[in-house]
Amino acid sequence: MLVKMSEFFKNLPTKKCVECGKEIEEQHECYGNKCDHCLHVVD
Ligand SMILES: [Zn+2]
Repeated sequence: MLVKMSEFFKNLPTKKCVECGKEIEEQHECYGNKCDHCLHVVD
């Protein structure tokens, strides 16, 4: 019962930004739980 890595990632649930709730499509490492927009928001 081998599972290809591509199939494994395909089954991962979609991450959503904790700030705005937008779905996060990018899979950067250490991306946290925020979308690209919210990551670049300067307080
Ligand atoms: Zn966001």
